[in-house]
Amino acid sequence: MSNSFKIPADVEQRIRQRDMLCVYCHKVMIYPYRHDRHSDSPTIEHLREEEPFYWDKGLKEEDLAICCGSCNSSRRRKKLIDWFKTTYCTDEERNINENTVAKPVREYLQRISVMKITYDKGVDALNVTLRTGSVVKTVAVAHEVMLDLDKRGNVLHVEVIEAGAKL
Ligand SMILES: [Zn+2]
Repeated sequence: MSNSFKIPADVEQRIRQRDMLCVYCHKVMIYPYRHDRHSDSPTIEHLREEEPFYWDKGLKEEDLAICCGSCNSSRRRKKLIDWFKTTYCTDEERNINENTVAKPVREYLQRISVMKITYDKGVDALNVTLRTGSVVKTVAVAHEVMLDLDKRGNVLHVEVIEAGAKL
């Protein structure tokens, strides 16, 4: 099997065997690829939106997955976290987000996630971002210490108000 990204055949075969369903929408795809049914056919997906896109330029196996043509066309080169906010992903039937995607995508997101700490001097607030997601609830765990939670109760941000006085 040849591909236009110069990915070695054994690597491509491994990814295809691993990702039998679309890594995003979990659709059962048509094998082999059919041009007239692109949206339901398997396509090579670059998890990273940035170069390198070609194997000989440094593309890595861990940044590759197989997704259906319709997910591939919808995402294009958007950052995953930005794509998850689009109506294509938030659509009730698809429900594509960092919690619903297949393991290779979750692992990729884990690799690129970094803790971010910001301090806003104007309002004297310290914000620690632990992970990306949609905030569904904010709870106060102590006086002026707030946690933003996602729908599963994971902590997304910790905010400390009047941080200067506390630290
Ligand atoms: Zn899909």
